[in-house]
Amino acid sequence: MNEKALQYINDYIVLRTEISELSAKLSTLHKDKMACKKGCSSCCMNFQVLPVEYFSMLNELKENPPKEFRELDSDHDDCNFLIDDTCQMYEARSIICRTHGLPLLFMNQEGDAWELSACPLNFKKFDDFHTENTYPQDTYNSKLFLINREFIKNYQDEKFGEFDMISLNRLIEDLRK
Ligand code: SF4
Repeated sequence: MNEKALQYINDYIVLRTEISELSAKLSTLHKDKMACKKGCSSCCMNFQVLPVEYFSMLNELKENPPKEFRELDSDHDDCNFLIDDTCQMYEARSIICRTHGLPLLFMNQEGDAWELSACPLNFKKFDDFHTENTYPQDTYNSKLFLINREFIKNYQDEKFGEFDMISLNRLIEDLRK
């Protein structure tokens, strides 16, 4: 990968670290409500991620390959890195995987009200939400979008549009190349 594209991968890692730290803080803040534990994997799906995130994960997994994964299978569209309810690429997992279970705050489609998305196993009743006790999804999505926009301009091996996403399960094919 060329230098300039790598620079945006580094920006992504900085953002991901900031998000991981915030997620840890919010998990601690809501520890009495959080039912998330090893073995609960209902949030795990074959997510689509932006190219900067995808190629960052691919680089990391080439250095540190997952111990196991399920083979691609057109009948299933869940995440093939989930084995026995355990993530096989936990350290390299995507941003969406790092916010599983947290209360996510975002603006509605009309742009006139805040909405909250929260796992019903964790938050049966949660109406006292505000910017200090929720994950600001729009803010971080915007930051990620801008980093990705620069990344795709500079990435030379494949061309992507600003809204193109890549499935996590493609990692299985790319790890074999
Ligand atoms: S990468 Fe890991 S945490 Fe993310 S969906 Fe797959 S198994 Fe779940």
